[in-house]
Amino acid sequence: MLKHVFTSCFLLFIIHTAKAQLFPEHNYPTNYFRYPLDIPLKLNANFGEMRPNHFHMGLDLFTLRRENLPVYAPADGWISKVKVDPNGFGNAIYVSHPNGYTSLYCHMNTFPTKVLQAMKEGQYVKESWKGDVEFAKNQFPVKKGEFLAYSGNTGASAGPHVHYEIRRTEDDACLNALLFHRVYDVTPPDITKLAVYDRTKSTYEQTPKTLMLSRAAGGYSVPGGTITVNSEAVSFAIVATDRVTGVPNANGIFEALVYVDEEAISGFRVDGIDYLQTRYLNAHIDYRIKANGGSYYQHISPLPGDRLPIYFKKDDGLIHLDDTTTHQVKIVVKDANNNASTVRFQLKRSAWTSAATNVQKDSRYMLPNQINIFEQGDVQMVSSEKSFYDAFRLVYNYKTSATAFSNIHVMHSPTVPVHDSMMFRIKPNKEIPASARNRVIMIHNTKGKVVVERATLVKGWYEAKSRDFGEFWLEVDEVPPTITVAGVTDGGTVVAGSPITVTVADNKKAIYSFRAELDGQWLMFAGLGPVFRYKTDEYCPIGDHELKLRVEDEAGNVTERIIRFTRK
Ligand SMILES: [Zn+2]
Repeated sequence: MLKHVFTSCFLLFIIHTAKAQLFPEHNYPTNYFRYPLDIPLKLNANFGEMRPNHFHMGLDLFTLRRENLPVYAPADGWISKVKVDPNGFGNAIYVSHPNGYTSLYCHMNTFPTKVLQAMKEGQYVKESWKGDVEFAKNQFPVKKGEFLAYSGNTGASAGPHVHYEIRRTEDDACLNALLFHRVYDVTPPDITKLAVYDRTKSTYEQTPKTLMLSRAAGGYSVPGGTITVNSEAVSFAIVATDRVTGVPNANGIFEALVYVDEEAISGFRVDGIDYLQTRYLNAHIDYRIKANGGSYYQHISPLPGDRLPIYFKKDDGLIHLDDTTTHQVKIVVKDANNNASTVRFQLKRSAWTSAATNVQKDSRYMLPNQINIFEQGDVQMVSSEKSFYDAFRLVYNYKTSATAFSNIHVMHSPTVPVHDSMMFRIKPNKEIPASARNRVIMIHNTKGKVVVERATLVKGWYEAKSRDFGEFWLEVDEVPPTITVAGVTDGGTVVAGSPITVTVADNKKAIYSFRAELDGQWLMFAGLGPVFRYKTDEYCPIGDHELKLRVEDEAGNVTERIIRFTRK
């Protein structure tokens, strides 16, 4: 009897240990960081929400639909970095804290004057308006609650808000900032749809069975209560959102796990994602459904080429059905406060199963986790081992073109996502004059989005990289860009604070670089193109000056302008 009790205790211990290890446990400090705004916490978006080609990597803090709210240091530390990122973070400020975390605030309007001055000096050292300027640990120490910045709407922002992140300083891993703050939330996630995949085939080469879920006593259920499949290996994807109690916004979920007969098979938890991995969003979702205007279905069992470290998997993470008995399935979805919703249904395999795809038998199959090469006549494509997430049979076609210097190569379909760039090589089908051989560009058209890339000549082939499938062809561009200057004229004068605006234009709308020099020294113009701005400051002292502007397009055509003027 005593022995029996011991055995039970031992078994319980094993079960508990196994359960605790589905995902790594973190004990983040929840009382260390104060909320960085002086208004109550309200989220416009949370960590792990799905966006085009990336996960949302922070918390979007509601700022009363206004700009210029003061942002305060959430804890003691030092301002370690500022960043100008016009396509993303806008003006961002980073604070490192002695407990090993860094907090950061994006889309800011402005920083304290001493920080702005040091930032400008750093930009002049780097000769770049864009990018990071780092500060020494003792340069700008801050106390908890000290003013850091005024909020705004700079960079890729659709309205005033603060994008707030917490990262592990050591490796820059981006963590779920909600795990550092206590938020009142007792509302469980909503689960609305379920997709069923036959994983003996590529997820790209099937139309999953999709089901609308309905609320039932104690959770959600599927129509009829039973899902019957004709495959020996299946997986699920779900559409689910989460809300914080009292806030109407639908945010992303934190965790999902699928259990078969009470055994955990696969799942994910978005407690941290590295910026280098955020593009795996395209593997995590059913990309084709989303690309065709559908919902964000999140795969619970990762695709073979999905290297995100957010998953738990038992073996291959798929549900294997060796016989036709009925199994009890539940999918448990949680938010960061551990509020849970559950879908329950029965899963059964039919006696007949559809034949698995043998991808190894067909050389046109592109496979995840390996280098793939496609070659035909005057076109080549080489992937990396991280280019694809699942297998697909490459479809290739071509069209002729009167104006292009090659055929128009139609490489597969943009509904298959690409992670690492593929190298494309194209042979011209018309004689390119010797003078134009270093003015060749590869045009890449994905669903109307045109990208122009400088093409490099290697052994008779022109090559360039791309991260999308679509149409590819070669063109020759010998037309240099143009420069229009406002605010200063050759032989004219300017005064302190007066703006100089440079507008550049290119026949292919592809500016490769812009550089301004004053008396041989780099001068900081702000802007992404086609408009660059400079406001006369201490870098243009009273006296005579020579402003030299240089613009280069993607094909390598260069235009230069020299303007001599006097600063009064
Ligand atoms: Zn954001």
